[in-house]
Amino acid sequence: MVATGGLSIPTMGASGLGYELAQQFGHTLIATDASLVPFTFTDKTGELIRSLAGISLPVIASNERISFKLPMLFTHRGLSGPAMLQLSNYWHTGESISINLLPEVDVTDILLARKKLHPRQLIRTVLAENTDNALPKKLLAALQTHLWDDIKDTELANIKDERLTELGATLNGWQLKPSGTEGYRTAEVTRGGVKTDEVSSKTMQSNMQEGLYFIGEVLDVTGWLGGYNFQWAWASGFVCGEVV
Ligand SMILES: Cc1cc2nc3c(=O)[nH]c(=O)nc-3n(C[C@H](O)[C@H](O)[C@H](O)COP(=O)(O)OP(=O)(O)OC[C@H]3O[C@@H](n4cnc5c(N)ncnc54)[C@H](O)[C@@H]3O)c2cc1C
Repeated sequence: MVATGGLSIPTMGASGLGYELAQQFGHTLIATDASLVPFTFTDKTGELIRSLAGISLPVIASNERISFKLPMLFTHRGLSGPAMLQLSNYWHTGESISINLLPEVDVTDILLARKKLHPRQLIRTVLAENTDNALPKKLLAALQTHLWDDIKDTELANIKDERLTELGATLNGWQLKPSGTEGYRTAEVTRGGVKTDEVSSKTMQSNMQEGLYFIGEVLDVTGWLGGYNFQWAWASGFVCGEVV
C-alpha cells in the first residue's frame, strides 16, 4: 500500500518514492506541481507587493477557469491568503491572474457618478470615502503612486472619462503575472500524481498489479482549502483498509 503523500514540505520527509514505484509498475503520472501555495512576483510589482506586507483585504481572485471571493494577504514574498492559495490550484506558470480589489462596487460607475456630482474631488478622496469597502490607507497610497500618480492632484472634472474608466477597470480587475510560487517549500498540497483511471475507486488497488494499492495524495487528486485533502487521504485509506 503506497501512502507516501506528495512532494510538499521536503523537510517533513516528503519524497517522490511513491511516484517512482508507480512508474515501475507501468502507471501513468500526471505532472506534479506545488499547489495551495502563495504566488511570488519580481520587478516593480514584486517591490510594490512586498512594501504592503501584512495588509489583508477581501478580493475576488480569478483566471479564465475559476473565481474565488476570499481574503488576500500581502507578504514579504508575494501574495498569499485563502484567495491566492485556492487560485494556485488552477494556475500554470506564465499565466496572469486577475484581482478585484473592490469586489462589492463598480469603481468606474462610482468615479463617473462622482465626477458629475462633485467635480472638484480627487480620486483618492472618492476611494477613501467608499467606506463600506474602503481600501486600506497604505494600499490606497501605494496604488495611487503605481496607477495614477500623474493625476493624483487633478480634480475629477479635469480627468477624461476614458482614464477614469481605465482606472476603475484596473481596480476591479488588477492583472498581475506571478513569476512563480513559493514551491514545495510551503505548498499545502501537490497537484498531479498517479492517474486515478488506473486505480480501482472501490479498493484503491492498481489495475496494473494485483496486491498493489495507492491511497491519499500520491494519487492525482487535489482538493480545495478546507480539509478536502485530509478527507481524501482518510477516505481512500479507509476503503483500502477494508479490503487489505
Ligand atoms: C503545511 C500543510 C498544511 C496542510 N493543511 C491542510 C488542511 O488544512 N486541510 C487539508 O485537507 N489538507 C491539508 N494539507 C494536506 C494534507 O496534509 C495532505 O493532503 C494529507 O496529509 C496527505 O495524506 P497522505 O497520507 O497521502 O500523505 P502524508 O500525510 O504526506 O504522509 C506521507 C508519509 O510518507 C512519508 N514518506 C514519504 N516518502 C518516504 C520515503 N521515501 N520513505 C519513508 N517514508 C516516506 C512522509 O514522511 C509522510 O510521513 C496540508 C499540508 C501541509 C504540508
